Amino acid sequence: MSLGAMIRIGLGRDLHRLVCGRAFLLGGVVLPADKGEDGHSDGDVLIHAVIDALLGAAGIGDIGQLFPPSDPAWKDACSKELLRRSFEQVKKAGYALVNLDCVVSCEAPKLLPYRHTIRASLASLLDVDIEMVFVKGKTNEGCDSVGAGEAVEALAVCLLERV
Ligand code: MG
Repeated sequence: MSLGAMIRIGLGRDLHRLVCGRAFLLGGVVLPADKGEDGHSDGDVLIHAVIDALLGAAGIGDIGQLFPPSDPAWKDACSKELLRRSFEQVKKAGYALVNLDCVVSCEAPKLLPYRHTIRASLASLLDVDIEMVFVKGKTNEGCDSVGAGEAVEALAVCLLERV
C-alpha cells in the first residue's frame, strides 16, 4: 500500500457564539466563565472541531452530516457522545489516531491552567494516551468577534494511520 493511503491528515474548525446562561465547555470540561457557547447541541466548540478533523481525515463525512442540527435527536446533544460515536466510525473505517493537535481562541478564561484537564478529557474520550493529544489557548488580540468576547473558535488537526 502506498504511504498516501497509510497516513491521512484531517482539519476541523468551529466557532460558537458566547452567551450568558450557558456552560463554557471545552473538550468535555466545564470551565469557569461568565458566558458559554450557544448552540443546538451543548456547544462544545473544541469537540466539534475535533470531530470534523477525525471524520475528514477518514474521509467519511462531517459533523453536520452525521448529526444534522435539523434533527431534534441532537438538540442539546452531549458532544462527548458525538465524539465517541464519530471516532467509532473512524475506527470502523480502519484507522487509528496517531496524534491530535488543537488551538482554541477566546479572550477569557486563560486556558493554560485547564490544559492538562482538557487534554486528559479528550484522550479519555478517544481512549488514547494523553501524549497523543495537545491543546493550545490563544487570544484574538481584541480583534473581531472572538476578540470582543462574543465568540470562541477552535481548530483541530489530526493524523490517522491505517491499521
Ligand atoms: Mg459546533
